[in-house]
Amino acid sequence: MDELELKGQIIEVGLTLINTGLVEGTGGNISARLPGAQWFYITPSGMPYHEIEPDDLVKVDLQGKIIEGKRKPSIEKDLHLGIYQEREEINGVVHTHSLYSSAVAACRRNIPPFLDSIVAAFGGPIEVADYARPGSRELAENARSKLAVKNGVLLANHGAIGIGCTLAKALETAQLIEKAAKTFIFASVLGGPIPLSSAEIADELNFLAKNYGQKKLSLQQDSENR
Ligand SMILES: [Zn+2]
Repeated sequence: MDELELKGQIIEVGLTLINTGLVEGTGGNISARLPGAQWFYITPSGMPYHEIEPDDLVKVDLQGKIIEGKRKPSIEKDLHLGIYQEREEINGVVHTHSLYSSAVAACRRNIPPFLDSIVAAFGGPIEVADYARPGSRELAENARSKLAVKNGVLLANHGAIGIGCTLAKALETAQLIEKAAKTFIFASVLGGPIPLSSAEIADELNFLAKNYGQKKLSLQQDSENR
């Protein structure tokens, strides 16, 4: 993948966010980098997603300096920067203001690991980071500390963040958080979800680690199959 394709992916994910209601207007923001790069591209501040062109994306280095772009970057630049500084394997960050995630975040509640899909993706609860003003270094730090070991977090009174080793994975995580939040609210209406025990969680994680997904092809098999 080259930089132009990466920019295309960011624009594509922006359209997905707006078309599926995970953000509205100019809310939320997206960034991505190529694996191993010492920079990332981020969406511009306050521009409608359907108007964003490749040249509107802003390139930022890992010290937070703008190294390319004519636009002002998202006000949450430091939030994205902190994640890339902390996790070198992470290449995509999606920040949403989705309805159900925002509702749980407004109540400053963690989403417990009451669904197998939450266990599989997060290995425990989806936590809520302490409140801080949007665009502040404190918000960036609160989120970064929660994302040191997990790929998703709620932001108190604000929204959610999904991150991943690709931008597609980051989007998937943001979608999963929204579904978990929605299910949590519905289950709470019905009297509250039955929590999984730590033994059940450990058993599931152990099983998935051994059995989930396709076996990786050896290099020889891979070249034979091409
Ligand atoms: Zn936001």
